[in-house]
Amino acid sequence: MPSFPCIVKVFCDLRVQDNLALIEAARSKQPIIVVYIHSEMKTRKLGKASALWLSESLKAFSKELKSYGLQLIIKKGDVKKELESLIKETGATKIFFNKSYEPDQLKLDIDLSRELENLNVDVEMLKGNYLFEPWDLLNKQHKPFQVFTHFWKCAIERLDFAIEKTPSSFLGYTPSLASLTIEDLHLREGNESEDELLQNWTPGEKGAHAKLSHFLKNILFQYNETRDVPSINGTSLLSPHLHFGEISVQTVLSRIAKTIDCDLVRVLKKPSKDQLGIECFVREIGWREFAAHVLYQFPETVTKPLRRNFERFSWIDDKNGLLSWQKGMTGYPIVDAGMRQLEKTGWMHNRVRMIVGSFLVKHLLVPWQRGESWFWDTLFDADLANNILGWQWVQGCGADAAPYFRIFNPVLQGEKFDSDGLYVKRWIPELKNIPSAYIHKPWLAPEDILDRAKITLGIEYPYPVVEHEFARKRALASFKIMVDNQNAG
Ligand code: FAD
Repeated sequence: MPSFPCIVKVFCDLRVQDNLALIEAARSKQPIIVVYIHSEMKTRKLGKASALWLSESLKAFSKELKSYGLQLIIKKGDVKKELESLIKETGATKIFFNKSYEPDQLKLDIDLSRELENLNVDVEMLKGNYLFEPWDLLNKQHKPFQVFTHFWKCAIERLDFAIEKTPSSFLGYTPSLASLTIEDLHLREGNESEDELLQNWTPGEKGAHAKLSHFLKNILFQYNETRDVPSINGTSLLSPHLHFGEISVQTVLSRIAKTIDCDLVRVLKKPSKDQLGIECFVREIGWREFAAHVLYQFPETVTKPLRRNFERFSWIDDKNGLLSWQKGMTGYPIVDAGMRQLEKTGWMHNRVRMIVGSFLVKHLLVPWQRGESWFWDTLFDADLANNILGWQWVQGCGADAAPYFRIFNPVLQGEKFDSDGLYVKRWIPELKNIPSAYIHKPWLAPEDILDRAKITLGIEYPYPVVEHEFARKRALASFKIMVDNQNAG
């Protein structure tokens, strides 16, 4: 047995199964040290919800590693310094890690690997938790894709979701090493609302597999119909698990292929009527790939719109509007229900994310970056690539984005996707006695109906912060000014 160990540096890959870095480390036959180094990135501090999830995910990962004979070492500070001192202490000769494709993180990892190689340490950077590396797919002109359908068509042709076999146990490094505890990282604030937030979630690999099993058994085949109904559990809820790498995306696709027991690529190319749910779900996974592709190819989009003309858009710095949106007190029930679901669960339904996003940037004319940073802080699944793509989509300034002039009417959106008002009533209990006909526009309900529902508007629940038709016209006028200015050079 070689005496020198190797190191596996983990980040957003908190799983044992199909973890390429761990599997490669096992192939080296060297004893393995698994280390998580907590280091706040230069440009992005971890959001509050992400920090909470991370603390639980690290606990679960540490437990999982233990059952495979490995210990999770925890450090904090400068990644390079911490690794250098670990290498010095243990004589480690190799380091393995899975790539993260966020621009800053990728750059740090590349710099790190160069510096470690200068110290004669072999560095192996493996593919991150995506089907493709974000530079793998380019259009016929060898340029990045900016339209999802073209990207996805190209992706399907080259789809490979084989999973690597994970050993049943690993050779751990036995001498004891200094490690912080997860609590030392101060990821939790330690209040009761954190436990409430977590109550329907099980961060970690086991939780991820359980969510996937439930989804495959109960939702997948109807996903095309259920995914747009926010009052039911009609989606996979895998997003935080995928973000933290608690399950590999290859595992998700392989288990789908196993469930349907036929050629998945063929299904994606030409789904039959009863395979539409499968095609639709894998396409969403495709959006995740697309988001990583766009962020890698256009790293400036972290703060700037992909369509640069939107930099000159005339926003209103509506602080009160932003506050009412954050608190779920805009007076538009579907918007407020979404924001309260986010506050109580750390997650929001995709359809409602689009509605609340559109409302913030178009009805209130608040810059998309404000919404993005609120989501960043409050979502368990906060993911740089997906969040930026989502917000630039709602604003109309990103890749394959919604046209600016399409302004969601929050009343009609509510009536279309929550026709019986069940979603609204769940998250806004003040409105629970309002009949369906008025649930998305309580300000139009006659006095006697409001009396019977025991609600006084303006006291228990607000009037709309802005009138829809006025807001629509104002947004279109602002857009026109931007286009006119652009045309005038
Ligand atoms: P499912 O419908 O079950 O989809 C399966 C998986 O596909 C998701 O877990 C996710 O990884 C991926 N996915 C689905 N839709 C999208 C999409 N539109 N773009 C990229 N990937 C997608 N998703 C995040 O993971 N993190 C974010 O920070 C985030 N911010 C968003 C902000 C806005 C304004 C909008 C409109 C969307 C955002 N999304 C984000 C995308 C989407 O809303 C969530 O991925 C989805 O709601 C997660 O729920 P689920 O796991 O049940 O999804």
